[in-house]
Amino acid sequence: MGIVVENVAKHYGNFRAVDDVSLEIKTGSLVALLGPSGSGKSTLLRIIAGLETLDAGQIWLAGENATHYNVQKRNIGFVFQHYALFKHLTVRDNIAFAMDLRKHPKHQIRQRVEELLKLVQMQQFGDRYPSQLSGGQRQRIALARSLAVQPRILLLDEPFGALDAKVRKDLRVWLRNLHSEVHVTTVFVTHDQEEAMEVADEIVVMNQGRVEQVGTPAEIYDNP
Ligand code: ADP
Ligand code: ADP
Repeated sequence: MGIVVENVAKHYGNFRAVDDVSLEIKTGSLVALLGPSGSGKSTLLRIIAGLETLDAGQIWLAGENATHYNVQKRNIGFVFQHYALFKHLTVRDNIAFAMDLRKHPKHQIRQRVEELLKLVQMQQFGDRYPSQLSGGQRQRIALARSLAVQPRILLLDEPFGALDAKVRKDLRVWLRNLHSEVHVTTVFVTHDQEEAMEVADEIVVMNQGRVEQVGTPAEIYDNP
């Protein structure tokens, strides 16, 4: 599902956290929002998710004006940096949570959970609790959980930010591979240029609430 952000603004008092941003994200693409801390990346992501009200502009999802759609109706999956898995639930039950909530049939949930465990390469870990997993494994489970109800868009806010450098590098490669299998339109926030270049098809460079540049990694970094 494609995303169109049209002249969007979000102010906190006199401060323009997001300042007249327009942007088009193509269906199935893997896009990085890159910029320094405080440049408005998270705010823009939350606006797309429907977690923030707007002061101006429109959000279009799959050609529909979704500006006033709530989170549920947008059908978007999220993973945040410190994504809290439920610590009293096993990995399987964490992944199943949203499907249970929506009262999907039990056999369908069981099958989908196994598919997702396989997708994130965590088949052997279904019966563990989050405290028995590494940070990287927890983020993979968080991703599996966000994919459970088959969102049309996946939003990742510094999903690997809290992890050490080696794990982060492995997860970048893993995310690219996952995306090539699942093809869900994915937007991820990062302040790490190398991460954006390595993972994204397209990079949106943000600064002080505005979009400074949009292009493929080669377009942005080969032509200074
Ligand atoms: P980034 O994700 O690029 O670090 P954010 O979108 O989190 O940037 O924040 C952009 C700016 O807006 C920051 O200066 C931040 O302090 C400010 N901001 C974000 N949310 C709020 C809020 N709820 N109230 C006031 N200021 C906010
Ligand atoms: P992130 O940028 O990773 O999303 P933050 O720690 O910047 O996380 O923000 C966490 C929450 O605090 C968000 O809901 C954001 O809107 C709010 N927030 C951020 N900056 C400010 C601020 N200056 N004043 C009030 N709330 C803020």
